[in-house]
Amino acid sequence: MLKNKKHCKLAKIIGIIGLALSFIMSGASLTSSLINITGNSRYIKSMFFIDTKLDTSKGDIKINLYDFTDEEKAIVKDSIKEIDDLSSRINYVFSDEEDISTNQVINIYNNIEFKNSKTAGDVDLRSSFFTINIQYPININLREGLINSHDENDKSATLLSHVVKHEIMHTLGFNDLRTDRWLGKSIMYYDTDKSSDYGVVDLTELDKKDIIERYGE
Ligand SMILES: [Zn+2]
Repeated sequence: MLKNKKHCKLAKIIGIIGLALSFIMSGASLTSSLINITGNSRYIKSMFFIDTKLDTSKGDIKINLYDFTDEEKAIVKDSIKEIDDLSSRINYVFSDEEDISTNQVINIYNNIEFKNSKTAGDVDLRSSFFTINIQYPININLREGLINSHDENDKSATLLSHVVKHEIMHTLGFNDLRTDRWLGKSIMYYDTDKSSDYGVVDLTELDKKDIIERYGE
């Protein structure tokens, strides 16, 4: 009992999956705090309140993984491949498996220390002032120790896979969801602990449907 309680408390420490969004304006970047206040909208909005999107038109997206153990790498890759499999227009290539030359790059950094002790991961997204496309390269940061599973009885549902899928969905233009009407419905709910309390530790059917709708089968 006590052990379980402790486990819960530990999980509470690593709960928030953040998003930093900025706009590129004539070289300088302006971070917008307006965009994400309510967390009610499904898509990240551009400067002109149009839904943003990742440009996948130039083919493969290169993923660089930094500071992961082999065990962690396997979980990260499986999580990303699951999203890749949803749409033929989303293709990820891991740079440690295949060397490709492209400027469509996502860097994922592990063992990052965050100022906020509750942060499990975040992503820096930049959206151009003039287009709806999210700009490359994209950097995702993850806290150390996410390999712990949500549930001691189910080792497959790790915080690492939860957070990676959440952050990758950000790169596809999906917003943090903060209102309770989204609880239990999407992996984009911003609090991993509350989300797991409502049975969501993975992509939901709604998430899969929305990715396919936005990017094509
Ligand atoms: Zn988030």
